[in-house]
Amino acid sequence: MSAPALILKPGREKSLLRRHPWVYDGAVQRVLGEPAAGATVAVRSAAGGFLAWAAYNPASRIAARVWSWHEAEVVDAALLARRIDAALAYRAALRIDSDAQRLIYGEADGLPGVVLDRYADVLVLQLTTAGAEAWREGLVDLIAERLPHCAIYDRSDAEVRALEGLPPRVGLLAGTLPEDLIIHEAGLKFRVDVVRGHKTGFYLDQRDNRRIVAAQAAGRDVLNCFAYTGAFGIHALAAGARSVLSIDSSAEALDQARAHVALNGLDGERCEWLEADVFQALRRLRDAGRRFGLIVLDPPKFAPTHQMAEKAARGYKDINLNAMRLLEPGGWLASFSCSGGVSAELFQKIVAGAAWDAGVRLRLRARLTQAADHPIDLDYPEGEYLKGLLLQRVD
Ligand code: SAH
Repeated sequence: MSAPALILKPGREKSLLRRHPWVYDGAVQRVLGEPAAGATVAVRSAAGGFLAWAAYNPASRIAARVWSWHEAEVVDAALLARRIDAALAYRAALRIDSDAQRLIYGEADGLPGVVLDRYADVLVLQLTTAGAEAWREGLVDLIAERLPHCAIYDRSDAEVRALEGLPPRVGLLAGTLPEDLIIHEAGLKFRVDVVRGHKTGFYLDQRDNRRIVAAQAAGRDVLNCFAYTGAFGIHALAAGARSVLSIDSSAEALDQARAHVALNGLDGERCEWLEADVFQALRRLRDAGRRFGLIVLDPPKFAPTHQMAEKAARGYKDINLNAMRLLEPGGWLASFSCSGGVSAELFQKIVAGAAWDAGVRLRLRARLTQAADHPIDLDYPEGEYLKGLLLQRVD
């Protein structure tokens, strides 16, 4: 008996020949055999040529995700072990100045649907696809073998699981969680709640950007919008900011941010906290005549998909425009988008439009992206989601 297979429609093999690791359901002509969700299938062109071994999921718009491009390679625990080892070796070579790192980043590490983040001695696993779920036990064993002194916590509660027909799964998989989990980033401490925090607990992807942005903070009044647990503001304070105003709609996040000031021995007198909607708060700050020398805009995902890009564009334009109106001459704006549905090019256009409407001239001082432990493969552009513009007002 030959392995179950997906036969593609004529012409639909092109993206796979370029090593893009997804097969959309609309590209599939026929399914041979009766593969269950998560089972390994051979993907073949209409002419029958082998393209890849992939994990099948009949419930998803992405009907298959590639495990291997080589017909001779077997999809088994040994393959997963090789991929995990390569992912760990890559991070080790990065010499990241933090004990909090993304160790596995899905497709970019050849492990579709698998995310593994490390927070000191706690690992957080997030499985988001049927293929990854099918290998759950094997993955946990391989990870535990390699990092035996770490606890492993399952945070497979990302919304994208619903698109794969998977229910949320959370809970402890190995070891015990410490009462108080503290990570270290560039000499600063942050408390991470892996059970209830956003994503897997912390925004690891912004690590480099926090340092780059904080480098402009000395002596300036800083406005940290969408502050979450305050990371950008803490870095700015440590770098000598005159003051930091942090805004978030979550009182709980601001409480944690406040605690981070004390945890790092920083001056609480220089901090101001505002529990508010950023869209409204920016207008009120303008009415109050406030000005800032450094503004950070790090909003949540406005557009997960391209279909929502237009509505997201209005949101980005609004906050950027209203932030620019608060910027001192010579001041800095660090503006981010983590929307997969908004390209870097579109984002820059939106921000340029906002600057025009605000009547402010801005110079692009740096383009920012996600930290290198969230690698971007040229074959898989979807892996690039975080875009940032570091701008300086020139007049
Ligand atoms: N900059 C943070 C991450 C920001 S995550 C860091 O580096 O850690 C986005 C934050 O925006 C969340 O804390 C969420 O509570 C907040 N948020 C979402 N919508 C908001 C709104 N309209 N106004 C204010 N805060 C909002």
